[in-house]
Amino acid sequence: MVREVEVVVVGAGQAGLAAAYHLRRFYEPGTGFAVLDHAPHAGGAWQFRWPTLTFATVNGVYQLPGMAVPEPEASTPVAGVISDYFAAYEREFDLRVQRPVSVRSVRSLPDGRLEVGTDRGAWVAKALVNATGTWERPFWPRYSGQESFAGRQLHTAQYRGPREFAGERVAVVGGGISAIQHLMEIHPFAAATAWVTRRPPQWRDGEFNPDRGREAVAMVEERVRRGLRPQSVISVTGIPQTPQIRAAREAGVLERLPVFDRIEPGGLRWDDGRFASVDAILWATGFRASLDHLAPLRLRGPGGGIVMDGTRVAADPRVHLVGYGPSASTVGANRAGRAAVREIRELLKRDDPVSAGRR
Ligand SMILES: Cc1cc2nc3c(=O)[nH]c(=O)nc-3n(C[C@H](O)[C@H](O)[C@H](O)COP(=O)(O)OP(=O)(O)OC[C@H]3O[C@@H](n4cnc5c(N)ncnc54)[C@H](O)[C@@H]3O)c2cc1C
Repeated sequence: MVREVEVVVVGAGQAGLAAAYHLRRFYEPGTGFAVLDHAPHAGGAWQFRWPTLTFATVNGVYQLPGMAVPEPEASTPVAGVISDYFAAYEREFDLRVQRPVSVRSVRSLPDGRLEVGTDRGAWVAKALVNATGTWERPFWPRYSGQESFAGRQLHTAQYRGPREFAGERVAVVGGGISAIQHLMEIHPFAAATAWVTRRPPQWRDGEFNPDRGREAVAMVEERVRRGLRPQSVISVTGIPQTPQIRAAREAGVLERLPVFDRIEPGGLRWDDGRFASVDAILWATGFRASLDHLAPLRLRGPGGGIVMDGTRVAADPRVHLVGYGPSASTVGANRAGRAAVREIRELLKRDDPVSAGRR
């Protein structure tokens, strides 16, 4: 079955819903635009976040356009609240997200439209807003001897809280906020923790003000404009020293070790002879953009990145990536959704002989 619409949005996280909100102002849901998502419920990746990620520990969830985000007690887990909020949002603005629908490939048709192939048939559209996030592409670096490790290895994407590490010696690998949060949570339960990062952490003093935020976003934007892989905004801004982080540093929980040279069955080995016995390695090594379904469009350059102009793929104006690179935050996703829809409307007006004749 093939359904024809003007625009398809893939993904109903913050970025996809923000785009859908703006599309809804100009197009009918179902016939003008379709939002496809393969998760079982509303909530984007938030529905899968670990139960100990609460409103106290999360960086801050910015509201979707047009509806205030709930502000529950700080100790409330984020996952359920944000999922309910997204569900209410979809109802309020009649966005008619179709789920579970898994987009498998997007290809160009000879008539210039895009065919979005899914496990529930195809959609044909003139433009695509891709909002598939990163959660489904956890990044696992490879180290010598990794397969020989006798303990347990897991990624942030599989983390469910600190209690399962009770009495264990745990190494957390990675230099971002997730690694720090894992260490602060696990330390009281574990027999010992070790923190391993490639580079010494860059602690940030002072408030994170909007100017510093904009500066960091501009730096990530500059990378994607040059077709380089996006870095996370936090890797550009440094790590904020909240009172909790400061206390953890003072308590010695965040003493950092450089990356080991190999993994042995019982733990981590450095070439200078040091050895750390560990029972579990938690890889907090980040995520990559989930874009495999766009492969038939050949958007990637030789360095593996996609050259971007704002949210638009420079080589293909039909395709916008939102929640990608500089817009990979809840506030950035909102702005990207609006910008993508504005440009898509211009593109569709140009291609429409009736509106083109009027100009
Ligand atoms: C642990 C963690 C904590 C974070 N904390 C914060 C924070 O406090 N504040 C903040 O601003 N940002 C935070 N971020 C970043 C934040 O999650 C994102 O910026 C934002 O929520 C992502 O929204 P998104 O719409 O881009 O992606 P997602 O929420 O991941 O949504 C993508 C959607 O696309 C769907 N999808 C993917 N592939 C397909 C496909 N092939 N077919 C159909 N559907 C598909 C998925 O089912 C999903 O619903 C955090 C990220 C992580 C990993």
